[in-house]
Amino acid sequence: MALINEHYQKLKAGYLFPEISRRVKQYSISNPDKELIRMGIGDVTQPLAPAVIKAFREGVDEMASIETFKGYGPEQGYAFLRNEIAENEMFMRGVHIPPDDIFISDGSKCDTGNILEIFGINNVLGICDPVYPVYVDTSVMAGRTGYISDNGYYDGIYYMPCTQNNNFVPDIPNHKIDIIFLCFPNNPTGSVATRQQLKAWVDYAKQNKSIILFDAAYQAFITDPEIPHSIFEIEGAKDVAIEFRSFSKKAGFTGTRCAFTIIPDELLAYTSTGEAVQVKSLWARRHSTKFNGVSYPVQRAAAAVYTKEGKEQTQAIIRYYMENARLLKQGLESLGFTVFGGTNAPYIWVKTKNGMSSWDFFDLLLNTVQIVGTPGSGFGPSGEGYFRFSSFARREHVIEALERLTNAKI
Ligand SMILES: *Cc1c(COP(=O)(O)O)cnc(C)c1O
Repeated sequence: MALINEHYQKLKAGYLFPEISRRVKQYSISNPDKELIRMGIGDVTQPLAPAVIKAFREGVDEMASIETFKGYGPEQGYAFLRNEIAENEMFMRGVHIPPDDIFISDGSKCDTGNILEIFGINNVLGICDPVYPVYVDTSVMAGRTGYISDNGYYDGIYYMPCTQNNNFVPDIPNHKIDIIFLCFPNNPTGSVATRQQLKAWVDYAKQNKSIILFDAAYQAFITDPEIPHSIFEIEGAKDVAIEFRSFSKKAGFTGTRCAFTIIPDELLAYTSTGEAVQVKSLWARRHSTKFNGVSYPVQRAAAAVYTKEGKEQTQAIIRYYMENARLLKQGLESLGFTVFGGTNAPYIWVKTKNGMSSWDFFDLLLNTVQIVGTPGSGFGPSGEGYFRFSSFARREHVIEALERLTNAKI
């Protein structure tokens, strides 16, 4: 008799995005003439930059000829891409990361979900609330938690509330956490962490021999020059952190798939008897056993993001999205909403009016103005009473959405 992994049965039944799809589908069936504006799932809408497409095509052409055809590539990624990343993402911000500490993958979702595999099952996990659902759900699947309780929290996770009181940056715990998930600029709240706040986390991790898993998927959207783009800009972070980066939001690769994870040589974790082990060597072993690399044309396309044209073109797309964010923030504020995020991140985190619940606000927007957003409570209990708008929509849809909201006096 084949047995299932029963940890999967602990997962909360209605995962956020399927539940949104269900309600949207139901609405569309009953109202086929109504045009929806989707500002829910954080997916990009603008096409890949021309310089990226050109390199992508060249990569494909190389696969067509016997002289330049490529079979399996290095599991860790081609050196041409790792060198560009080390130079442009790190060295140009004053951080020295050797290309050998960079692991190319097909997504940060996968990497942030898979990374726990190399860490012991008894680590205490610290996870923000609200949060990108992947960190919690993959922990549940791996049997690192107990059951979910009535208040929406899984037993065995140390939740770190991110609320208006702490500017949506978690307070340093007075409790020992072994592995801490941080994501800045943040999805869903659009908040950023200052240098001082990140320094406090690095110090905490040093004191407690903890590891910070730093998801910087949205670093390209930072506009304030004082805000660090990488945790490695903080002194001492190489001893305590792993960083996840992705081309998905930075360069529109959500459908193309390319990301990377940085694990410094210096980073150590311990056996139960206290023996230090290099974390990078464990991940290298895992990566080369379970992963066979990102396709060559995709890595060529990703490397083209760092050419002169590639930089200019991807920056222009980021500016386009951030102008959407500015319009949304301004428009919602003028309608009397309290709005967070949207200046260093593509997400707008809005407080509903009169204490309305996140799902009631979702239904209100869907039914009265046909706008689809994301209920804050879907990201965790502390997201209740908030709503997330994504700026990755097309400009005309942002403008139309604001008009509909204004006309409906929402
Ligand atoms: C979109 C996103 C990612 C990127 O995921 P990919 O698998 O690289 O597309 C990672 N982390 C967060 C928080 C995100 O929102």
